[in-house]
Amino acid sequence: MNKVYSIAIDGPAGAGKSTMARRAAAELNFVYVDTGAIYRTVAYAVIKRGILPEETEKIDALLPELRVKLAWKDGVQHTYLGGADVSKKIRLPEVSSMASKVSALPSVRAFLLDTQRNVAKSNSVIMDGRDIGTVVLPNADVKIYLSASAEVRAKRRLLELQEQGRSDTYEDVLKDMIERDYRDMHREIAPLKQADDAVLLDTSELSLEESIEAILRIIREKLGL
Ligand code: C5P
Repeated sequence: MNKVYSIAIDGPAGAGKSTMARRAAAELNFVYVDTGAIYRTVAYAVIKRGILPEETEKIDALLPELRVKLAWKDGVQHTYLGGADVSKKIRLPEVSSMASKVSALPSVRAFLLDTQRNVAKSNSVIMDGRDIGTVVLPNADVKIYLSASAEVRAKRRLLELQEQGRSDTYEDVLKDMIERDYRDMHREIAPLKQADDAVLLDTSELSLEESIEAILRIIREKLGL
């Protein structure tokens, strides 16, 4: 069997993790794993049941009922909840905000851990999230911590939302992003932070192409590819 590599990419919301990880994975022929999608799926189920984020006992009781699955079609990740493809529905800002609340619960993190680790067991992966280098894949071959200023990240996210036909304001996107980062960095379990052995890449001043080149350079150098 060929050697299986794992690349962990962590960082705050809107740092460009998913776009860059997806492109780098395509270039290297690795599987791109967007772990935010499974937290979003739990959040989507919580919203659909009308459960509030502080109703933690109800969320704990809901988890065993949830069937969250990742699958890939033509290299594109699809996320399923109980057999239904929810990949598009989980992208709404209200789901983002709920995801950062439910992801602070230890029960939710434990529930999703194996789903993430199992993909990396049999495939070379580029996995992006918040705690991939610190918790999910602590022995990853390469760890990158992607960052950019909050203003740059909010502008990039606003463009994505506009492309989806939404009319959110820059101020709302920036506020949501700052709140989400604060929650992700200050939660007790698996907070967002740079792993000691991660390479820091700040993309505030880099174009998308330059950022992808930089990521590929780091990966190729570390793996000797
Ligand atoms: O990456 P994305 O913005 O889709 O993630 C949505 C939310 O899910 C994040 O704000 C974070 O709270 C949570 N998350 C996490 N750990 C991960 C991936 C996402 O806590 N590995």
